[in-house]
Amino acid sequence: MTQNISAALFSEARRYIPGGVNSPVRAFRNVGGEPFFVAKAKGSHLWDVDGREYIDFVGTWGPAILGHAPQIVVEAVQKAAANGLSFGIPNPFEVEMAKLICSWVPSVEKVRVVNSGTEATMSCIRLARGYTGRDLIVKFEGCYHGHVDSLLVKAGSGALTHGSPDSAGVPAELAALTITLPFNDPEKLTAVFEAQGERIAAVIVEPIPANAGLYLPLPGFLEQLRQRCSSHGALLIFDEVMTGFRLAKGGYQELARIRPDLTALGKVIGGGLPVGAFGGRAEIMDQLSPDGPVYQAGTLSGNPLAMAAGLAQLRELERNDGFNRLEKLGSEMETAVRQTLTETGRNYAFHRIGSMFCLYFCEPPVRNLTDARRSDLAAFGSFFHHCLGSGVYFAPSQFEAGFLCLAHSSSDLERTIEVVRAGLRGGARS
Ligand SMILES: *Cc1c(COP(=O)(O)O)cnc(C)c1O
Repeated sequence: MTQNISAALFSEARRYIPGGVNSPVRAFRNVGGEPFFVAKAKGSHLWDVDGREYIDFVGTWGPAILGHAPQIVVEAVQKAAANGLSFGIPNPFEVEMAKLICSWVPSVEKVRVVNSGTEATMSCIRLARGYTGRDLIVKFEGCYHGHVDSLLVKAGSGALTHGSPDSAGVPAELAALTITLPFNDPEKLTAVFEAQGERIAAVIVEPIPANAGLYLPLPGFLEQLRQRCSSHGALLIFDEVMTGFRLAKGGYQELARIRPDLTALGKVIGGGLPVGAFGGRAEIMDQLSPDGPVYQAGTLSGNPLAMAAGLAQLRELERNDGFNRLEKLGSEMETAVRQTLTETGRNYAFHRIGSMFCLYFCEPPVRNLTDARRSDLAAFGSFFHHCLGSGVYFAPSQFEAGFLCLAHSSSDLERTIEVVRAGLRGGARS
């Protein structure tokens, strides 16, 4: 197969952009080979610059929950753009967005909008430290919260794919303030709180860890986390950048019936434009500048195009019964994948919640990062390339989740299962 234009672009990109990409996972290092360059994305499909078409299960890493370039979102952006691209002074969309988030997400009484998920978690950490007057942060191995210095310790996503879950350039003094624990391990959590509970500003967690593949909290684990934080005066931060507005209107916290003190949001909220947000109890949020002493700001925060896109997408999700329809799609896919695993004799761990999924190339159980790392990455790599060559684009790393969107059709799913079956029979070893 020739990849003429993509290959030429990638070689040029590597001359001017580190690694040829603006975000590391796009470089395909985990699976080998080179990335394709996208010319166009619409609905559930991508077209590359060489004219190849793919069924897309990455959805720009989550934001494209309605599918790519939904007309209703594109029109909202066009309409907003005609009135100006950025004002740097309040616009009405910001109020609408804030009202919507506060009414949808149970624990959020006040919210501030930023430009990325990283900014949202970074601001949560600073706010938690400012509010509690404490310095220690607890995070979980394999959870990814963006490329925030204090959180790039045993991190997931690109940090995992590219060899080291810890980053150079993070001062040891800063990393020393971040305690990392294995996910789903109540004993270690208890031990840390008993030893240092009064020094912990916050625990930050992806309630559904989806940046080391996808695994689920064991019953009671998040409840224990909530209880430990409350009894020691530490804040509980749910990083719902991935799960917010994807699993339910109110994020995973609505399904789990747990109220974190702060919540970080991103991805789906921007409808494909760069947006993040963080919010929580009013008493905590009021510590932010200009009301309080914790500084936080952004030239483009609350940008009218980004707000218009996000509002259009979120309203369409609600109007269209999106969350129930995504659950139905997810459940259809799960049934078909499980059947295919049985047919092909692969005892692989397959995880799915709503429209998020992951197939680990190892046996169950996968409950944390250590388990996830048992995956046969060479087998994953050949499976990935088989699928890509057959027009099905899954995330180019074992340590990322897959995403369904409302534009995936029955024929997309049928075709995908055919390709998956051949991939599991052929390239993959057991
Ligand atoms: C993607 C992601 C982030 C970072 O968001 P960016 O917009 O890439 O900065 C943070 N937390 C989680 C859980 C994510 O999935």
